[in-house]
Amino acid sequence: MICLFGGTFDPVHNGHLHAARAAADALGADEVRMVLAARPHHKDQPSASIGQRWEMLHSACEADVRLVADDTEMRLSGPSYTVDTLAEVRARHAQETVFWVIGTDTFRDLRSWYRWQDLLDLTHLAVLQRPRSTFDPDMQSVYEQFRVDDVPQSRAGSILRLQTAMLDISATEVRQLIAAGASVEHLLPDVVCTYIRTHGLYLEANERAED
Ligand code: ATP
Repeated sequence: MICLFGGTFDPVHNGHLHAARAAADALGADEVRMVLAARPHHKDQPSASIGQRWEMLHSACEADVRLVADDTEMRLSGPSYTVDTLAEVRARHAQETVFWVIGTDTFRDLRSWYRWQDLLDLTHLAVLQRPRSTFDPDMQSVYEQFRVDDVPQSRAGSILRLQTAMLDISATEVRQLIAAGASVEHLLPDVVCTYIRTHGLYLEANERAED
C-alpha cells in the first residue's frame, strides 16, 4: 500500500502530523509520504519558498519513521497537479493500492482540481474530518457514488471517510499568530518553530516568497 498526504505545508504543523499518523493507523499503512505541493495552483500562493517549506517538512518528518517527506512535485516542472503526481506514482507502482489523504475542506474543493474526475482511476481518497469543516452537501453525491466503509483491497476508485478526531490547527492561523507576535510553540514541532524563528518567516501577514 502507498499512502500519500499532499499539502502546501506553509508551514507543516501538528495538525498535519497528527492527521498523517491517524491515517496510517486507520489504513494500516507502514508509512505516509508527505508530498509537498511545490507550486500549488488552486490556493493562494505560499508565503514561504519551496526550499523553506521543504526544509521544514523534511525536518518535521525525521522525528517519525512512519512519515517520509516526498519531493515528487518539486521534481515535476510547472504547476503541481495531484493527477500528474499520481500518474507518476502509478507509472512506478501499477498494481499497488494507493491512498491520497485529504481533509474535508480539501474534499469540498475537489471539483476545482485539474482533471479531478481522473483522480479515482489512480487512487482511493481517504477523507479526514477537520474541525469546523462540514462535509459539503455538493460533494455528498460524489461521496455516495464511490463510498466504502472499510479499507478497500483494490488498487483505486473508492472514497473512505476516516473518523479519528483531528486537531483544530490550520497553517493560516499559524501564520496569522506569528504575524501578530503571538506564541505558536504548542501548534508546531520544535524543529519547525526554530526554523521559522531563525529565518524570520511569516512576520508580515501577506508576504510572498521569491523562490
Ligand atoms: P491553510 O490554512 O494555509 O489552508 P492547511 O493548514 O489547511 O493550510 P495545507 O497544507 O493546505 O494546510 O493542507 C494539506 C492537507 O492537510 C489538506 O488536505 C488539509 O485538509 C489537511 N489538513 C490541514 N490541517 C489539518 C488538520 N488540522 N487536521 C486534518 N487535516 C488537516
